Amino acid sequence: MTSRASVWGLVPADLRALGYPRDPRHLFGRFQRLQTWDAEGPVLSRAARELAEASLDLSLPRIVEEAPSQDGSTRVVLALADGARIEAVHMPRAVRRPRVTVCLSSQVGCAMGCTFCATARMGLVRNLEAHEIIGQLFAVMRRYGPLSSDQLSLVFMGMGEPLHNVEAVLRALDVLCDPAGLGIAPNRVTVSTAGHLQGLERLARARYLPLLAVSVNAATDAVRRQLMPIDKKWPLRELRAALATWPQRPHQKITLEYVLLDGINDDLESAERLAAWIGDLRHLLNVIPFNAWGEAGSPYRAPSEEKVQAFVARVHELGCLVTVRRSRGRDVRGACGTLVAT
Ligand code: SF4
Repeated sequence: MTSRASVWGLVPADLRALGYPRDPRHLFGRFQRLQTWDAEGPVLSRAARELAEASLDLSLPRIVEEAPSQDGSTRVVLALADGARIEAVHMPRAVRRPRVTVCLSSQVGCAMGCTFCATARMGLVRNLEAHEIIGQLFAVMRRYGPLSSDQLSLVFMGMGEPLHNVEAVLRALDVLCDPAGLGIAPNRVTVSTAGHLQGLERLARARYLPLLAVSVNAATDAVRRQLMPIDKKWPLRELRAALATWPQRPHQKITLEYVLLDGINDDLESAERLAAWIGDLRHLLNVIPFNAWGEAGSPYRAPSEEKVQAFVARVHELGCLVTVRRSRGRDVRGACGTLVAT
């Protein structure tokens, strides 16, 4: 066991407190800006090397499995220092200009128990520390790029409910968005929640406010409770009230995720109730036809294409801004709700 602090979760003030004698923002930049690294890692001055040798742990999570998909995305399994495994997905796209989205895990497993989700079967093993969230990202960036934040977007949609581990996620944002380091713009980071309202209240006070995505998945509490036990604690009415107070900037929208499950939530009455629940919320509704994860067997099936189209047409008629999201990486179990490290 090392007693050294992992460097990835440290802000400049921490480097100062550890005794770094020079400008800690400069050293912070050396650690956080991957484009300045050489093959061994960050390039350090003698004073920084002495500090690192005495007090800092520079090791990154290890990539132990890589599963490339035909669509260009790659599901990556990473081993943490204690052997726990998490998954991330690297998703390059070049619609107008090259961009990469990295989907990050925030916990090992998840406590939320959503019945359509493979990760839920693990239960919650443990929370990730901020340095493990950042280390996960750096290991993926180092292997697949990009090395700077210009082309990078982040989504917290991997294993875990990020707002059930909100302090670590906030700390990771403080580090990753600091302009002296990687400097990723907060509006390039999306935090996705199942509707954890206590965490949402805390996230709303973030120094670097990310974009918000919410898994809705049903338009009545009766159906939502079957799918998402969190609805018993925070039902749809409370969720909608909380979203109304989210500190949204004028041009931003809250992304509402709706996994479409055959025979469960894909009828036109559900579409109408959903549109009424959304009301005047500034939103983008992402309809995601379910990905069967096979193996031990999901109780759910993918809806037919006709059902998907009819659902989308109805919510659109009723004033929703809607897109259909075909999950990327679906042939390698990298799609949302299918991450489970085995
Ligand atoms: S869908 Fe998200 S919140 Fe629900 S169990 Fe899966 S990882 Fe957790």
